[in-house]
Amino acid sequence: MNEGLNTRVIHHGESFAGDTGTVMPPIFPSSTFAHGNAGGFDYTRSGNPNFRILDSVLSSVEGCAHATVFASGVSAITAVVSQLKQGDLVLCEENLYGCTVRLFEQVFAKFGLRTEWVDFTQPDALDVIRNQIPAMVWLESPTNPLLKVIDLQAVCSITEPLGIPVVVDNTFATALVQRPLDLGATLSLTSTTKYINGHSDALGGAVCTNDPDWQQKMVFSQKALGLQPSPFDCWLITRGIKTLPLRLKQQVANAAALADQLAEHPDVNWVRYPHRKDHPQHAVAVKQMKGGGAIVTASFNASQEQTYALCKRLRWFTMAESLGGIESLICHPATMTHAAVSADVKARLGIDAGLVRFSVGCEDLTDLQADLQQALELLV
Ligand SMILES: *Cc1c(COP(=O)(O)O)cnc(C)c1O
Repeated sequence: MNEGLNTRVIHHGESFAGDTGTVMPPIFPSSTFAHGNAGGFDYTRSGNPNFRILDSVLSSVEGCAHATVFASGVSAITAVVSQLKQGDLVLCEENLYGCTVRLFEQVFAKFGLRTEWVDFTQPDALDVIRNQIPAMVWLESPTNPLLKVIDLQAVCSITEPLGIPVVVDNTFATALVQRPLDLGATLSLTSTTKYINGHSDALGGAVCTNDPDWQQKMVFSQKALGLQPSPFDCWLITRGIKTLPLRLKQQVANAAALADQLAEHPDVNWVRYPHRKDHPQHAVAVKQMKGGGAIVTASFNASQEQTYALCKRLRWFTMAESLGGIESLICHPATMTHAAVSADVKARLGIDAGLVRFSVGCEDLTDLQADLQQALELLV
């Protein structure tokens, strides 16, 4: 695999195109396949040519042996967690994506799975691993919405000799910015709905690994739990990933510039962006991330109403959940993603009324800067 990344996202493994000469892969909506075919396909719940095409690109980008695709990021999480059993303990980063927390607390807890929430940016988190010997460690870096950065190599250096599998939700960074498997993680999980597809028009998830046992477990979960994606969505995501390096380059450059613009504004209390020098884990971020990513979080010196109004005044940032598309979005966690979280927990996590999260898109930087400027000027 000596080819560059731009080449590898465009060219995938087999296209299953027969002798048609088609340049883009076909879509295979068939639910079933004739017994004994050369591709080894039988029923789409347990495999499909479009899954395999996307698997081949994802494993190439991640630089790993295996990738398994799912219907969504949440399906991918379900596939992994379903491999655990009653009584097992999962040590989780305390600032995980909200739907991951909900799965652990409102679904898997009913089946006797135990979770403990730890701030993995603190050095004593490593002692908790040694003392508890969990069945799994679940990380996310950078986290949502505060963009905490966890030293993945430091955690994996503790878990590896103990044989504890580590899952890293790599959705915010993508393999272009950070490669968890190279840093020692067992599984690198992604919601392909976000940057990988990049066009906010399909849902998907994937789990990448170098471990053949885990690969078998993922394929089993895909078919046994019915977590498979649709062939059409795989086709869309395969199309989307072809421009991932181009999109991300523009998005990361835009995000870094907007973070600096925000930091200079008098009505901004603080800005979080992994590659800015004032980020609390800046050294780790520079060590393990090739860029700062394209998410910026800021805290305005403003009430909830003022902050909400500011979000609504922006022209090029749509106020919406999700992230990672070519279009810029803004999210007000206190009233959106974290609306259901109690005031206590919000305060503990640092989610205040003036906090906003930007998912920076591919628009012209000057337009985004002017938009931000006009919205901030009206902040009184
Ligand atoms: C969106 C997201 C998920 C869930 O993915 P879906 O495709 O929406 O199911 C999981 N983790 C992170 C970090 C996400 O941003």
